[in-house]
Amino acid sequence: MYCKNCGKEIDDKAVICPCCGVQVAEVPKENRTNTLALIGFILAFVVPVAGLICSIIGSRNAADCGGNGKGLATAGIAISIVELALAAVIVVFYILIIVGAIGAAMGGMTVLI
Ligand SMILES: [Zn+2]
Repeated sequence: MYCKNCGKEIDDKAVICPCCGVQVAEVPKENRTNTLALIGFILAFVVPVAGLICSIIGSRNAADCGGNGKGLATAGIAISIVELALAAVIVVFYILIIVGAIGAAMGGMTVLI
């Protein structure tokens, strides 16, 4: 692009003209991380359900207000879903063990777990 003030060709991403020092573009929004996305990302490791909710809200906020929380929120959502899936597998595994133990007990057999 060209500087509005001095007409010199300058970098498209330039905010201030290096030739005359006049501001030529909007100052980019501060590259702040969406707080909710960050909280969601951390919670995803500790409380997957809360992490998932915070990450989804954080993801929407990041889409609305800019900032770099989008990737973090997406990661938080992915981690929460993976952890919830793992938790579901573990619960199913325990149910199978309990059902198996009950079945074996009813059959009068000794089960070693
Ligand atoms: Zn200029």
